[in-house]
Formats: sequence, structure tokens, C-alpha cells
Amino acid sequence: MSEQNRLSDRESVIQVTNMNKWFGDFHVLRDINLDVKQGERIVICGPSGSGKSTMIRCFNRLEEHQQGNVIVNGVELTDNVKNIEVIRKDVGMVFQHFNLFPHLTVIQNLTLAPMFVLKHPKREAEETAMKYLERVKIAEQAQKYPGQLSGGQQQRVAIARSLCMNPKVMLFDEPTSALDPEMIKEVLDVMVELAEEGMTMLCVTHEMGFAKLVADRVIFMDAGQIIEQNEPNEFFDNPKNDRTKLFLSQIL
Ligand code: ADP
Ligand code: MG
Repeated sequence: MSEQNRLSDRESVIQVTNMNKWFGDFHVLRDINLDVKQGERIVICGPSGSGKSTMIRCFNRLEEHQQGNVIVNGVELTDNVKNIEVIRKDVGMVFQHFNLFPHLTVIQNLTLAPMFVLKHPKREAEETAMKYLERVKIAEQAQKYPGQLSGGQQQRVAIARSLCMNPKVMLFDEPTSALDPEMIKEVLDVMVELAEEGMTMLCVTHEMGFAKLVADRVIFMDAGQIIEQNEPNEFFDNPKNDRTKLFLSQIL
């Protein structure tokens, strides 16, 4: 309870009011309302096609919403492109399929955006990159190409690459779904560490152990809507909505 009180006193990192989005005629996101506080860790779950990816992609404007407001770090996301550069820098994103540049080495993947977007000198960018590669326990792979690494290693590189931009919030879109089972833990361990260090995180994942361990709040989506949300124990032990109950019965 006191944890919740503390969270509610904090600044909002992402504030979403009545957000609606269509793909052509298809109403993919319906009246989304969400207030993400500094340091809050949110897990988003729900059936395939429910709009989870589309929703978090709206938070760094990889997708555009058509109605409502999305405010990230105090900046409203509109067509104004100038704002978007500022936002993207502060909102790290980790994808299911890693999205590393295959023709660049690991260290080059990590230094590219800091050098060309943040204008950091190469030496400084490399120092920062090595610091984060050590944090995800993969420093010895710095000179390799992504294709020479396992899926779990590539995903840890992708996380380190995001951290090099010093983001204010991290978005994870099913970061372990493409991994072989034995590699899931090494990626979740990195995410748990980040959570414990106080990173603001929105994680689309069906790793319910992770949700129970670190989430302040679990959100369930279905058919483009937020159907139910609660702190993890209550969410898992006492789901209220029939669709949430059905979903949990299928994954747990
Ligand atoms: P989830 O991540 O929960 O599986 P998505 O956000 O990827 O769901 O997709 C939600 C719905 O929007 C799905 O029906 C999907 O087919 C549709 N969709 C996703 N991206 C596009 C797109 N670029 N154009 C048209 N429809 C899309
Ligand atoms: Mg998705």
C-alpha cells in the first residue's frame, strides 16, 4: 500500500488520455487511459492481436494515434517531428526479434546512435558501450557480429544498446518470446536487475514469474482495450473479468 502511495506522488513519465487508433477501418486501440509514474514497472499481457505492441509503439511514435493525448516526459506526441527526436532518445525499445544491425559489430551497434544522435565522441561512446556490455555480462563479445551470437546474447546486446542512450523509460515487446527456453532466464535476469535499479519499464510479456517478481502493476488487454489492471498478487489470484480469467487459465 505504501509503495502505491509513493508511486502516486511521483511524476508521470507517460500519460495517455482516451487514446484511440485505427488501421484503416479497423479500430485497433479503444479509449486507452494510462499513467506511468517514474520508476514504475508495468507488465502488459493479453491474447495475440489484442493491441499490446501497437499500444507501446504509440509511446515512441513508431505508430501514430488518431484521437486522444499521449504525453511522454511532458511532451505531447503530435505531428511535430522536432518533438519526436527528443522522445525517441528518452524512450528505449527492445523488440522480440532484437533488431540489431547485422552488418555492424556489437560495439558498433551500441555506439551508432550515441555518436550520430547524441553527438558523443567515439571514445566516450565506446566507454559507455563497454560499461553496458559488462552490465549485461557480454563484454567479451564486443567485436563479434550479431549473427555470431546466440539469441539470448543478441537480446542482451539489444538491451545494452538501448541503455547507451540513457533512456528515461524502457519499452519491452515480448523480449523473450523468440528465445529458446534455456536463454530466457539470462534475458529476464537482466530485466530484473534493471527493474531493481529503478528503471521505468513497460514490458509486454507472458513471463508471469517476472511479473510477480518485479511488476507494480499488471495490465490485461483484449480487443484493443485495457480490460483489467491490478498489482500482481491480486491480478493473478483474484482476476475480476471473465476474459482475464479465461486468458490466465490458458497461460498459467
Ligand atoms: P499484439 O501485440 O497484442 O499481438 P498488435 O498490436 O500487434 O497485437 O496487433 C493488433 C491488431 O492490429 C491485430 O489484429 C493486427 O493484425 C493489427 N495490426 C497490427 N499492425 C497493423 C498494421 N500495420 N496494419 C494493419 N493492421 C495491423
Ligand atoms: Mg505484439
